[in-house]
Formats: sequence, structure tokens, C-alpha cells
Amino acid sequence: MRYISTRANSTSEGRQFCDILLEGLAPDGGLYLPESYPQVGAEQLAAWRELLRTDGYAALAFEVASLFVDDIPAADLRGIVERAYEPDKFIDPAIVPVTQLPDGLWLAHLSNGPSAAFKDMAMQLLGELFEYELERRGATITILGATSGDTGSAAEYALMGKPAVQVFMLSPLGRMTPFQQAQMFSIDDPGITNIAVAGVFDDCQDIVKEINSDAAFKQQYAVGAVNSINWGRVLAQVVYYFAAFLQVSADGAPVSFAVPSGNFGNIAAGHIARMMGLPIHRLVLATNENDVLDEFFRTGRYRVRGSAETHETSSPSMDISKASNFERFVADLLERDGERVAILFGKELRATGQFDLSDEPGFVEQVERFGFVSGSSTHADRLARIRETHAADGTMIDPHTADAVHVARTLLASGELDGPVVALETALPVKFSGTITEALGIVPPRPPVFEGIEDLPRHVVEAPNDAEAIKALIRAKLD
Ligand SMILES: *Cc1c(COP(=O)(O)O)cnc(C)c1O
Repeated sequence: MRYISTRANSTSEGRQFCDILLEGLAPDGGLYLPESYPQVGAEQLAAWRELLRTDGYAALAFEVASLFVDDIPAADLRGIVERAYEPDKFIDPAIVPVTQLPDGLWLAHLSNGPSAAFKDMAMQLLGELFEYELERRGATITILGATSGDTGSAAEYALMGKPAVQVFMLSPLGRMTPFQQAQMFSIDDPGITNIAVAGVFDDCQDIVKEINSDAAFKQQYAVGAVNSINWGRVLAQVVYYFAAFLQVSADGAPVSFAVPSGNFGNIAAGHIARMMGLPIHRLVLATNENDVLDEFFRTGRYRVRGSAETHETSSPSMDISKASNFERFVADLLERDGERVAILFGKELRATGQFDLSDEPGFVEQVERFGFVSGSSTHADRLARIRETHAADGTMIDPHTADAVHVARTLLASGELDGPVVALETALPVKFSGTITEALGIVPPRPPVFEGIEDLPRHVVEAPNDAEAIKALIRAKLD
């Protein structure tokens, strides 16, 4: 299996999995995609259904990963996947259990991992892959990241205790929820440095960009990233579409997935699973008030928002101004015309902040062919769905999951969607207890692993909003 950039031209050469793993973005600024999608037929699915039942999630993950990775020996890859999806690390040993609500809607629970959000599903595998490949190369890496909440803790839980990896995670001072702060700052590990920056999330991101543009510093400290455009993360996410499908569809009949979306990482994996032949009827893209993607699927226009137009919502992990993984889908939509993708996401977005594909011949049919439908929710919609779902049988859903539930139920009611629908649960309610309390008047239950984390000693240094100060912290730790 070879990987090529979404912006590749016909002369570009494919690269191997482990090379693109540590790299992230392609040198031409595009994102990596497999040259072609491996195909999975009905017989294979039936065998995997049995495998998932008898051997568990890691066994299925190994089968799926094997289709995309051919530069790691099978026995090693199996070890990597088994360490990533060790049942002990997850609140539920099924890793991705599915449940059904009284109205028939299914929930696939993706937030049973160490940080209680779906990002663990990808980050756990990425952490193991990084450790393996760095050891094989005798190399080390410095992961420099910025987080507003979920990504930072998922990355730290996945990368702690790995001697070849040093993590420096910037977060906006005093702006994460107390629970999110406690999750990150309670980690006591020599490889993890939490830095609370006197600024907002965008300032943290700007610092990361500025440090990455200092080529000498970047090279000296082998600065890398684990952001959501990394192909390894997308690959890890493809697995749970298979796992959920196999549990919901006993006979192989198609199901739809409703996905709370921000950067298009989660649903990009659903798109890939569907391209592989998994019988997915519809991919329901759900956004909050930051509806960049809903707008695209309704109108064909992709319009990046400015920071003034980016709303702070009660589903904060979806508060985005542009969708960093969206280019992967557009590449397929345009039948891998890399030169066209390069213009749209390069020159055109830079010059005008938008592009419009509605004039593309057959745009509506194309979107239909790829199975996409979309919708969005408001704060009031999410509160209503949290209440409605809780009233039906006591199930508590977090505000991100509520967004997917809202869009799925709305489209089902209007007849735009039919058949079984699986809404992806992307966080546990405990992470967003303020909104849960607003909706239900009660405090969400706290899984025992998170008992008392706010009382643990905090490991965090404060820093001014200044890239030089952050570089000094990195030098002081690593020199
Ligand atoms: C990151 C995140 C999302 C959005 O996922 P994308 O891959 O960015 O579309 C949704 N819900 C939660 C809880 C998240 O942490």
C-alpha cells in the first residue's frame, strides 16, 4: 500500500505508511491518502463479525490495519494494536459497545478510553505506532501541540511513559473546564510538560506555528505533531465504523452513521470505510452553530470563517473555523485531481477564503453518491435532545453526541433518512457537566477512574504568550 498527497500530480511517487506516519502533512501541503481503497466483501464481513465476537476489538483492528500497513511485520503490528486496545485501558472491555435507544436509534460508544473522548480511539494507536517506529529508527521526537481540551489529554494519555517521546502541550490559561484541566495537569510523567499560556487557544496555535517555522529549532529538537490530519489517526478511526456496523447489522444490511463533526476527521474515516465497501447507507454530518461543513453539503460552497465568526458553543470540541481533514473528501469528490485540489485549498482559499463546487457537473448527484447528508444544531436543540433522551430510558448523552442525535432524529422525522442509524457518541457527559446540569438539573455520574482527579497535585507551568518563552522552556528541559 502506497500513499499519495491529495495535491499530488501524475508524476508524484507513493510513500510507505511508516514514512508518512511521522511526517503529518505532505511536503506539498496536502494530506496523505492511500492510492486506492482496499475492498472488503460480504464474506469477509461475516468472518469479521465472528472474529469481533470471539476475539474482540483489537483482533478486528489488526485485520483492518493490515490492509493499510505493509511495512511493519505482521507479528509486530499485532502487538502494536493489542497494546493500543488493551481492554483494561477502557471503561468497557468491549471498547466500542453499541446500545439502542427506545426510539430505535443506536449509539456507538467511542468515549470509553482514558480521556473519556473519542480521540482516544485514534491516539492510543498512534502512540504505539510512534513508539515502535521511533525505536526502529533509533530516533526521538518532541511533540509540540496546542489544545482547547480534548486533544491534549488524549495525546498525553497515549504518549506518557514512552521514552522516545517528549510532549509539550500548550493550553489557554484558565480556559479549559476544571475537569479537562485536572485530566491533563494530574499527569505526573517525565515526558509530559503542560504549559498554560496567558492567552486564548488561537494564541497557543500561533505559537506552535511560529516554532514550527523556525527550521533550525524544529530540526534540532525533532519537533513533530499528532494533529488530526495524521493518516494514522484516520486509519484507527476506520476500525470502529466496521465494529459498530458488525454489531448492529446482523445480516449485512446497510446502516447509516450520524457523526458530530468539527475538523472532518471522524467522518473522513466513515467515508473511507464506505469506499472500502462497508454497507453504509448515509453518512450524516452533524455540526453545531459552526456550520462550515453543513453549509458545504447543502450549497456546494466551502467558506472558511474568521475568528470573529467562530462561535463558542456548548459543544466546544466542534468549534472550528475551517475543517482540516475536509481536503481528503474533496480529493475523492474530484476523482483525485491533485492539481485542482492544490488550487482550491492553496491559491483559492488563500485569496478568497472560499471555493464553490456547486457548478461542478453533477455536484448534487456526486454528494448523493458518496452518501452524505447534513444538518446542524443550536444550543437549545442539544439541551432538548439531552432531556428527551434521558427521559426515554435514563440514557445520558454529552452535548456533542446530542448534536448527532438531533440531526439524525430531524432527518428521520422529515423522511430524508431511513433505516437503522448509529449516532457516534464522542464524549462522556462527565466532561461537559455544566451543560448536562443545565439540561437535566443533575450532575452526570463520574466513572471511578476519574474520582477525585481535581484534588491531585497539578503539573503545569505558566508561560507568557510568546514563542521565545516556550522555546526556552523546551531547551531547558531537553538540553
Ligand atoms: C474532536 C471532537 C469532535 C469532532 O471530531 P472531528 O474529527 O474534528 O470532526 C466531536 N466531539 C468530540 C467530543 C470531540 O472531542
